[in-house]
Amino acid sequence: MVADSEKKKKTTKRTKMVKKPKKDKEKVKAKGYRDIGVDIIVPKKRCDDRNCPFHGTLSVRGQMIEGEVISDKMQRTVIVEKNYRRYIPKYERYELRTGRYMAHNPPCINARTGAKVKIMECRPLSKTKAFVVIEQKTK
Ligand SMILES: [Zn+2]
Repeated sequence: MVADSEKKKKTTKRTKMVKKPKKDKEKVKAKGYRDIGVDIIVPKKRCDDRNCPFHGTLSVRGQMIEGEVISDKMQRTVIVEKNYRRYIPKYERYELRTGRYMAHNPPCINARTGAKVKIMECRPLSKTKAFVVIEQKTK
């Protein structure tokens, strides 16, 4: 009898420990999108792109950059340009610089040339692409 009750206690404890956090897929079913952990507007459309941070399994981390789309000729990829100023101490002046980034463009956002977008760093998706568009600013 004693052994039996001990067994029961152990099993109940174990079941409590086994409780797993909800998987991403279940969250997507419940809410319609994944929470990517960044304060932005979630796209209203849905897509089935596995490299979409909201409806796929791609996680974002690292840098967040704001820029303008200058080319949308590739499939699900855009080129984003960012202008910034760099200080030159010798001349005590700034020089204008341009940074270009390849970014994945999921179908639910579908940013086109001229759009102001926010891109966020992710794992390398190809040789030159390690960013994904997470928000398109509408005017
Ligand atoms: Zn999507």
